Formats: sequence, C-alpha cells, structure tokens
Amino acid sequence: MQLKEELIKVSHKVYEKGYVAAYDGNLSVRIDENRFLITRSGICKGNVGEKDILEIDSQGRLLKGEGKVSTEVKVHLLVYNHRKEINAVVHCHPIYSTAFATAGIKLTQAVFPEVVLGLGKIPLCKYSTPSTDELPESMKPYIEYAWVYLLENHGAVTIGKDIWGAYYRMEKLEHSCKTLFLARQLGHEKIIPNLKLKQLYDIAESTYGIKLDKRNRLDY
Ligand SMILES: [Zn+2]
Repeated sequence: MQLKEELIKVSHKVYEKGYVAAYDGNLSVRIDENRFLITRSGICKGNVGEKDILEIDSQGRLLKGEGKVSTEVKVHLLVYNHRKEINAVVHCHPIYSTAFATAGIKLTQAVFPEVVLGLGKIPLCKYSTPSTDELPESMKPYIEYAWVYLLENHGAVTIGKDIWGAYYRMEKLEHSCKTLFLARQLGHEKIIPNLKLKQLYDIAESTYGIKLDKRNRLDY
C-alpha cells in the first residue's frame, strides 16, 4: 500500500534527521474517514518496517496488525476528528523546537516570511502529562486553524494534507527554531514590520496560492 510505504519512509527520515531519539515520536496517516495507519508503540522510528504500522479506527481501536497502539494516539485522533482536510500527523521531539517549547517561548512573531505563510501561528500548548487526555486538551484551543503545535516541555506536532506536507512542516519548524536560536546568540532577531507583514498577507493567495485562516495570521 502506497500510504504505508510513505509512512515508513517518513518514519526513517525523522530519525535520520535527529527529530526523535530512541523510541520517541509517532506518525500517522488517514486511509479514509474512519481508518488510519499509525506507528506502533516502542519502536525506534529508524527501524520501522511494515509490521510496525498498525491500522486503527477513529476511536483508536486496533483493526489490523500486531503490537501496542502508540500512547499518543489521542493527539492524532483529535486532529483527524476536527480537521477533515488533514490526512497526516507527525509528532517528534526536534532539539531546537523542543528547546523553545521547554523555555516557554511562543513562536507567534513574524520573523521569516516563508514561515509566516507556510506554518502560520505556532501556539505553545500548555504542559500536560503524555498519554493522558490532558495532551489533546492542551491542543484544543488551536485545533481548528493551526498546522504546527509546540508542546511545552515535550516536543512538536505538525499536520498536513499528506505525510510529506506534515513532515516538511516539521523540518521547516526545526530549521527556523535553529536559525532563531543562532540569531539570538548574535543579538536578537528583527521582527518583520507590520506594513511589510500586511503586504505579505496581501500577496499570499495571488502569488503563493496560500489561503490563510484569519485566526492563523500573526497579529499586525
Ligand atoms: Zn512525544
């Protein structure tokens, strides 16, 4: 199955890129309205094979495959149940992004134009105990519009119309957090002025074909 192959490829990629360590992280894709594929619990993402991908329903019940469903399945189901246009969810612990999340720093200011348009507003979801209902609850205030979520003292979640879309948002998030971190070593980042930010939003649709939900726009 094409979806399964792509999920395996991206699982290997997040490990190669260092976005997860040991058994960290989980990835999933939507098959149809009520069926999903998700990486099983307790597997290093660098070693995921066909047998490590489980099929589940919209309640998180195991339909096909052997092994334990990822403990963070509730995060994935929250996204799928609220966002019908979303077909993939990636959860990782990338170092720089997680450092920002751990320091309690929100990424809600306009610094990089392509991040403003491609990732939108990046909320910092309140710390919650992994695997409990608290974690999806912490994402709920932003679930209708955000594509990228920082999880306080934990990591990040990105979503997309397909697994590569979700993956590239994770890559972009980590790249921009690393650049921002370095900019702060050199002094401080400059924020894109309001007038320029407005200009960027004005050309978003005509030039880049990006339709941004108003709630996902940074304030200007
Ligand atoms: Zn995690």
